[in-house]
Amino acid sequence: MNYNGVKTMQDLFQREINYLRISITDRCNLRCIYCMPQEGVPLTNSILRFEEFEKIVRSAVGIGIRKVRLTGGEPLVRKGVIEFISRLAAIPEIDDLALTTNGILLADKAKALKEAGLTRVNLSLDTLRGDRFAEITRGGKLAEVLLGIKEAFVVGLEPVKVNMVVMKGFNDDEVLDFAGMTREFPIHIRFIELMPIGESDNWCKDRHIPVKEIKKMLDPLGKLERAKIGAGNGPARYFRLPGAPGTIGFISAISSHFCDSCNRLRLTSEGQLRLCLHSKTEVDLKTPLRQGASEEELAHIIAEAIKDKPRKHTMADEGWADNQRMMSQIGG
Ligand code: SAM
Ligand code: SF4
Repeated sequence: MNYNGVKTMQDLFQREINYLRISITDRCNLRCIYCMPQEGVPLTNSILRFEEFEKIVRSAVGIGIRKVRLTGGEPLVRKGVIEFISRLAAIPEIDDLALTTNGILLADKAKALKEAGLTRVNLSLDTLRGDRFAEITRGGKLAEVLLGIKEAFVVGLEPVKVNMVVMKGFNDDEVLDFAGMTREFPIHIRFIELMPIGESDNWCKDRHIPVKEIKKMLDPLGKLERAKIGAGNGPARYFRLPGAPGTIGFISAISSHFCDSCNRLRLTSEGQLRLCLHSKTEVDLKTPLRQGASEEELAHIIAEAIKDKPRKHTMADEGWADNQRMMSQIGG
């Protein structure tokens, strides 16, 4: 199905929109300090069913979506996720089907995910120290994530990317350790700036470290060379230590935004289309979906919504904070 014969979709700023990120659940088995409160997480009972997500994906494919990422919350806690992935993998137009996970359940599920047709995984890991991991995630076990990473390589969910949110006074002393891993393994470490979303609204300013400073921390390791990696050329800029099998990426959402090349849409767990992670504007897909809209009609709504995709975010502005939704609902 195409929308008015359109196979690719450009927004008003000539950006090709081909990537959809879906928060398939707002639930999570961890409580990272910058993402969720320890208690009283406002969970909803109104998240979409998998067949509803699938219908939206099929509609979005009709207007040029070719990459889909499942995220959350923690996508692997949702029952039926493997079957859902196999249904998405059967859509021929999708050429990249990826998942972002905290890795806790990955060792158990990696093989089934690969067999279902998942292309690759991104893992979130902010420390290599067990006690600190338990502190940052409020109770998580580091060993489970490390096993998950290993299993991702064993089954070939590659390239394996690891996202580290660098926070002043929390884990910035581990930047060199993370970078050092790329010398040993074909792993892609991405250093991410903390953003004022969710639980970090209040303390982001004190903990935020701009990418420029993170790069400086890597000076003792020698000169970084520019690098390219195979899949998912998203907002990260990649580098390599001389001779290293892995790469180092930097994602600077705040200090130097990458809006000019933004190709993505987001779908919240409740079926709201977000045109930008940092814009509070949402377009309701759930209501038309539940009123029986066809794939063509949904595609039309999505195509019209894309016209409102903002040129850039304003997150670096004084006083900006997204306390309307948590990252786990939007899909980080
Ligand atoms: N639970 C999965 C995970 O942790 O990978 C997927 C969802 S999580 C919301 C996705 C990513 O968002 C994680 O890499 C997490 O570190 C990141 N994230 C959450 N809150 C953030 C914040 N305030 N600033 C920067 N990154 C954040
Ligand atoms: Fe859960 Fe991911 Fe948020 Fe951590 S960052 S609380 S793992 S959703």
